[in-house]
Amino acid sequence: MAHSENTAETQHEAANAAQISTILPANTAMPLECDACDQVHNYSMTFLRTLPNLVCKRCGDTRQFSKIELTVLEGALNNMGYYLSKSA
Ligand SMILES: [Zn+2]
Repeated sequence: MAHSENTAETQHEAANAAQISTILPANTAMPLECDACDQVHNYSMTFLRTLPNLVCKRCGDTRQFSKIELTVLEGALNNMGYYLSKSA
């Protein structure tokens, strides 16, 4: 019985190792919603890396995109198997 459990464990690890990661170009557009009105805007990762002020086209709400948000966004992409190239 112990032997069959070990086999199942090994197969599970092999499946994880075979997971394919996808490299995205740095100019990939990221949909971000306005905090104030939920209007969706597409910003490229190249632009977001400059930690810009984001101005809503619909309601004019302005906020700074923070380093923390950039880190969270890139971390979320990595968790889904996407990696961003450092340049476009
Ligand atoms: Zn807005």
